[in-house]
Amino acid sequence: MKILVAVKRVIDYNVQIRVKEDGSGVHTDNVKMSTNPPDDNAVEESIKLKESGKVKEVVAVTIGEEKAQETVRKALAVGADKGIHVKSDNYIEPLGIAKILKKVVEKEKPDMVFLGKQAIDDDCNQTGQMLAAMLNWPQATFSSKVNLKDKSMEIVREIDEGLETVEVNLPAVVTCDLRLNEPRYASLPNIMKAKKKPIEQMAAKDLGVDITNRVQQLKVEEPPKRKAGIKVANVAELVSKLKNEAKVI
Ligand code: AMP
Repeated sequence: MKILVAVKRVIDYNVQIRVKEDGSGVHTDNVKMSTNPPDDNAVEESIKLKESGKVKEVVAVTIGEEKAQETVRKALAVGADKGIHVKSDNYIEPLGIAKILKKVVEKEKPDMVFLGKQAIDDDCNQTGQMLAAMLNWPQATFSSKVNLKDKSMEIVREIDEGLETVEVNLPAVVTCDLRLNEPRYASLPNIMKAKKKPIEQMAAKDLGVDITNRVQQLKVEEPPKRKAGIKVANVAELVSKLKNEAKVI
């Protein structure tokens, strides 16, 4: 079996985001970038399935500018076999990304596509779902446990009410939750070896899909500053404040 795993380069989750003064976006110059965290879980799960012997090949794909290749290299360093970099210097919204991934799926013919549940830069949580719809494949989103069987997968999903177990037939799209596993670190020798692994490059505009963005970002703003909290002396005072000041009870 073969897995295609999608990895996105985003601002590192430890970075304090700075909004541009003109509200046109956030500062990215000289800012540390990393793989989107749930994508690391998607890679880890793919590698674990390969190590279990059930999967033969793991292909990592990214869409983005030249430097986005780093995310593919990182996936190769922890055990992916091959990388694909679809180059684009412009922002592509989830619908365009899903269309590109569909093209890659048609070419690579994987049995499963693993993605992160959500990218932490734009918090869209759309790409996996759109890809599954366009491929007409079953999907399991927010997966926190994956059990691969011969022709299907049993997936545990985190939902508001607790845990839900679903079974999807292969081929399928799986989006991964942070609780799915503990991503490994790449060892130095494996980072060196990864430099020799192949990364196929192609340009997004040559794939024959319409990647025109349909959503226009009007403005980015800092969230309002939170007021400092206060301490109350006892329960009676708390109840009084909730009732008379916050007016929530
Ligand atoms: P989103 O729908 O933007 O929240 O992204 C969900 C998931 O889709 C991410 O966690 C990635 O696995 C995948 N994805 C989104 N954008 C890209 C991209 N530019 N390159 C590769 N994978 C992506």
